[in-house]
Amino acid sequence: MIELLDTYHQLPGSFYQRATAEHFPKKELLIFNRELAEELSLGQLTKKEKEKEKEKEKEKEKKKEKEEREEEENQLAQIFSGERILPGSKPLAQAYAGHQYAHFVPCLGDGRAILLGEVLDKKQRLFDLQLKGAGRTGYSRVGTDGRAPLSAVLREYLISQAMYYLKVPTTRSLAVVRTGEILERGAAKLVGGILTRVASSHIRVGTFQYFAARGEISNVKILLDYAIKRHYPELLSLEKELSYSQKVLLFLEKVIDRQSALMANWLSCGFVHGVMNTDNMTISGETIDYGPCAFLEQFDFEGCFSSIDYYGRYAYFQQPPIAAWNVNKLAECFFSLFEREAELKKLEVLLNSFQSRFEKEFKRHFSQKLGGIKNSKLIEQWLTYLQRA
Ligand code: AMP
Ligand code: MG
Repeated sequence: MIELLDTYHQLPGSFYQRATAEHFPKKELLIFNRELAEELSLGQLTKKEKEKEKEKEKEKEKKKEKEEREEEENQLAQIFSGERILPGSKPLAQAYAGHQYAHFVPCLGDGRAILLGEVLDKKQRLFDLQLKGAGRTGYSRVGTDGRAPLSAVLREYLISQAMYYLKVPTTRSLAVVRTGEILERGAAKLVGGILTRVASSHIRVGTFQYFAARGEISNVKILLDYAIKRHYPELLSLEKELSYSQKVLLFLEKVIDRQSALMANWLSCGFVHGVMNTDNMTISGETIDYGPCAFLEQFDFEGCFSSIDYYGRYAYFQQPPIAAWNVNKLAECFFSLFEREAELKKLEVLLNSFQSRFEKEFKRHFSQKLGGIKNSKLIEQWLTYLQRA
């Protein structure tokens, strides 16, 4: 039987709150992503791969298979609604803060997500298994239900699959369960669902902000070490030779590299995230939290699909400068650890490099679209033409 890992749970208690999924008596498994399950070595989750003994009667065998399939789906529904706790799993909700539409909220946290634990994939990479929509947690705000509409869950499943096969770094989706509940969303009544999300981690810019805003610098440092170990282990071997600010700079450079490349990736396939708040931006460089996102049907620099993004803060072509702004907010979490003016100067230069790194990647993608042309002016002209026409 699979055993989940608990590396996040081993962090200090202020990083999370224990969480328990609510009970959904009428739940039903809708989707199980077997391909991803195989990658994560979760194929054997319900001991399905049985010995193929020879059966005498075909009919009997079919009936048995159907029963076995139903039993398997039943077990998967229990696991991916949070009812059945896998060995090693210590379900928790993560703490984080975030700038939402540039306004800082010091305590957000998983209000409707539960981290079940982590698994190693076949290449020995660590991934989070997280339920989204399994009920309220200690971070749920007053009046919220901790639930997710099935329509939104299916949309996240579909778009994350699309992004993955478009080769855009993204969280992935392992399972969808229909809860059997009806959710009230204003006047609308919606069917409830639970998504099992797989991510190389759920550490967000907002996770660092949570501790920095409370002045808990020791926790900022613990989180930094954890993030480096998980995402940028190549920095570990350098650590002995580095001052603390050098370590922070190298970490930030990695994040800038991933995020600037991600923005070029998004723009190249017309993706508009919709809610690029700092709590929706990962340290890993994976796209996360598919809400009111969309793909452009027609080229539009100002393409914007979120009904609450009144001023187009997160519009299509605003995304790279917003990502840079978010990385600046991440850098601010470390300000007090920079002792000398010269170090701050280096930080400033690094942060300013976001744009040129993005442009390089952007040019690479768009030059490919245009048959490999190297002329940036032509790319610009082409985009202007698309906008006009
Ligand atoms: P999001 O817009 O999904 O990135 O979520 C922003 C914040 O609102 C996070 O702290 C979520 O956990 C919380 N949140 C969103 N929807 C719900 C809900 N239905 N119940 C509880 N918390 C929620
Ligand atoms: Mg979010």
